[in-house]
Amino acid sequence: MNKVGLLTQILIAFVIAIFIGAIVGPSIEVVKPLGDLFLRLIKFVIVPLVLASLVVGVASTGDIKRIGRMGGVTFAYYLLTTAFAVIIGLILANIFKPGVGLNVTLSSDVAEPAEVPGVIDTLLNIIPTNPIASLVDANMLQIIFFALFLGIAIAMLGDKAKTVYNFFEGLAEIMYKITGIVMKVAPIGVFGLIAPIVGQYGISVLMPLIKLILVVYAGCILHAVLVYSFTVKTIANYSPLKFFKGILPASLVAFSTSSSSGTLPITIKNTEDNLGVSKKVSSFVLPLGATINMDGTALYQGVCVLFIAQFMGVDLSFTQQLIIVLIATLASIGTAGVPGAGLIMLTMVITAVGLPLEALALVAGVDRILDMIRTSVNVTGDASAAVVVQAIEDKRDGKIAT
Ligand code: ASP
Repeated sequence: MNKVGLLTQILIAFVIAIFIGAIVGPSIEVVKPLGDLFLRLIKFVIVPLVLASLVVGVASTGDIKRIGRMGGVTFAYYLLTTAFAVIIGLILANIFKPGVGLNVTLSSDVAEPAEVPGVIDTLLNIIPTNPIASLVDANMLQIIFFALFLGIAIAMLGDKAKTVYNFFEGLAEIMYKITGIVMKVAPIGVFGLIAPIVGQYGISVLMPLIKLILVVYAGCILHAVLVYSFTVKTIANYSPLKFFKGILPASLVAFSTSSSSGTLPITIKNTEDNLGVSKKVSSFVLPLGATINMDGTALYQGVCVLFIAQFMGVDLSFTQQLIIVLIATLASIGTAGVPGAGLIMLTMVITAVGLPLEALALVAGVDRILDMIRTSVNVTGDASAAVVVQAIEDKRDGKIAT
């Protein structure tokens, strides 16, 4: 008899979780520890995995120019696709007007606007003053910086640093192995994460905001299907169907955990094993993406601002909507890859267009449901960048070889 593949097992767990969650209701909460167990298991891999694999990736490339070029391409791809996501969100929100005719009352709880750190401070903060503290705090950008430097210095030192290189190479292999082992319990984890959410959110909670939920879901799916199919097909000549199938396990885990940082080990594993991306590319593009590339979040922020404006009866001009594209793109870069972070950064976008922060309470009630789809798209977007950057690197190598 054929063994059932992991993807099928995850899908089955997903469907069972929805049914059981809906039937049992809030008391299905008892299975939540299964989800937490899985989440903790993937989270403990992240820091050593990113550090070791990026050091090895950079040290084996040994070419600072190439790394700089890869960084430039990755960053440009991330920015462009994110801006596109906001535009798709705004178009749908303008067409379907999810905030018009809404019959809910606002509570007077006023949220605090997110602090906007200065650009210079943000950039300076990428450089760790104590790399060990960065590892302890899991500060991803600082870890990336540290790993880049370690890798470059190891490459420059050659034989003298061979032992350290071998150490990181071994550590990276070990972390990949652990990720593979942890993936085996993904179906149980997905069940433990999804069932309590379905049990907790009855239809009565979702119904008043169903239009908003549908617009965010439709926008996210449309963005993934249109934009990623287009980029992987035209730039990487990669079949979109193969792409979506290959990244589906990570997308489903992202959907269940609402954390792109938490999903990172699985995203890395899927892009390497299923999409044929090299360790060199994935170890650089994906940790960066899990930290700064949030297409789903940006789209959601665009839709929510319009939703709130419509609810308050405020008309946002074309110029104001252009400002939303800019601010939501920046806000999504600043959003951490953890559950609920997008809602906090939404305060920044709301304030930028002069809407009252109380309106945030409207979205907060269903935010977890919106977080699931946006995180899924965030992770899929990172993987699409890995495929695209890999193709560009391959083309350059081909050119050098001829
Ligand atoms: N949960 C999202 C993520 O991890 C961030 C957000 O809240 O939008 O990608």
